[in-house]
Amino acid sequence: MLISAIRRWRIRRLYNAGEWKSSQELAEKELGRKNHRFATDIILRSMYNQSRWEDVIAFAKQYPEADTNRYVSKSHRRVSEKIEAAEGIPKPTFNRVWNEIDLLENWVQEGSRLWLKHPWGWVHWDMPSGFDLNKTHPALLHLALEVLLSPWVKKTKKWSVEERQPGKHHSLSYSGGIDSTAAMLLMPDDTILAYHERNFTSMLNHSLPHSTFAAIQERTNRKVLSIPSNHEKIRTNHNLQTGFSTANASAVHLILLADYLDLASIAFGTPIDNTWLAKGAKYRHFPSSYYWTYWSKKFKLAGLRYLLPINHISEAGALSVCKQSKLSDVVNSCLRGYDGHWCGGCWKCFHKNGPLGRDFNPQSKEFTTFLNAPHLRTAQHALWALKVQDLEHLAPHLKPHIAEDLDWWQQAYPIGLELIDEPLRSHIRSRTEDYLQWMDKPYTLETIDLDV
Ligand SMILES: [Zn+2]
Repeated sequence: MLISAIRRWRIRRLYNAGEWKSSQELAEKELGRKNHRFATDIILRSMYNQSRWEDVIAFAKQYPEADTNRYVSKSHRRVSEKIEAAEGIPKPTFNRVWNEIDLLENWVQEGSRLWLKHPWGWVHWDMPSGFDLNKTHPALLHLALEVLLSPWVKKTKKWSVEERQPGKHHSLSYSGGIDSTAAMLLMPDDTILAYHERNFTSMLNHSLPHSTFAAIQERTNRKVLSIPSNHEKIRTNHNLQTGFSTANASAVHLILLADYLDLASIAFGTPIDNTWLAKGAKYRHFPSSYYWTYWSKKFKLAGLRYLLPINHISEAGALSVCKQSKLSDVVNSCLRGYDGHWCGGCWKCFHKNGPLGRDFNPQSKEFTTFLNAPHLRTAQHALWALKVQDLEHLAPHLKPHIAEDLDWWQQAYPIGLELIDEPLRSHIRSRTEDYLQWMDKPYTLETIDLDV
């Protein structure tokens, strides 16, 4: 008893004298003994005071009972601040705490920058000049909060404000990839195109989309509005990789700009693979899916039609549309490209660039890993891509699933048009017929149930 008290006194004396390295070393000898609890606290504080935040986090993983220590959460905060500073992510010039009572109070405008305070920090959008938060309908701000935060802040799903009246223009959440370019080609020519630009250092390179946008402007005289933002960082507070909080967060820039741009709709380049097929592998009646009924209703409350102008064509159909267009040489879905060239080794290069006749390396690590994974990604489309590139021998286990005739996969599913209201429906039908044939009845698509 007395001895352990003396040891505690020695450690505390070193700690209080600022001898953190020594206090930590001595405390480590107490782990698993009578002074364990005391020792973990001293170790965490000592490491924190030496700015060794990553070590604090690693220690808390090893000793989960220490995870509630406030120095652990402080370290998480410091690590993400360090990453944000290294990535050039700005911070607001003012301070504010997350307001969970009045959710709309978390939106703040500073010049042309729109800030959102969320429970774990800040994110921002650099808006076009003339954007005014005060002239943005509350329904749009609520919808934006829901697509960004609902996985973690359930309260953002419950909002009731006066319904916004629709504006005049169609818009498309445009990425420069194959699917959204096919959507652009099927939509009316005056559809507003807006790109979400990740504005921090990351593995994803933006040089490919920007060269695509330059070509679109040169050849079609259409501009792509680019909105820089770091909102893909929100997920990283929940041990997830940088990315969209929800599928619809990919269009949050258009939701926020809907009054500024006077929007009546937001379109997404979502093909059959993610609508009429669940996980690209099993047919479902999409109009009765929770996804469609829930989100089309929510967008309507914000005066926006939820448009899926390529829900009736597959990724192969989208490839065919792009291939026949005057943009065939510039569209690209590879996110790892550099200097205007695709990487030639990723999964997207396999199923999008390969079928377009572009270089693809079937020995690449990512392709081999995904091909042999327990569940095949974008299954129906991947089987088609293997067949059209004569790569079936690389996946003997998939051969039984590859049908003799897969031509239907490049054709359009007329039932999908029913998700689009007139007069847009007639326009999409006619544009579709410029590029593709319709699938024949009975529809093979409706029998798809792949167990791969
Ligand atoms: Zn690639």
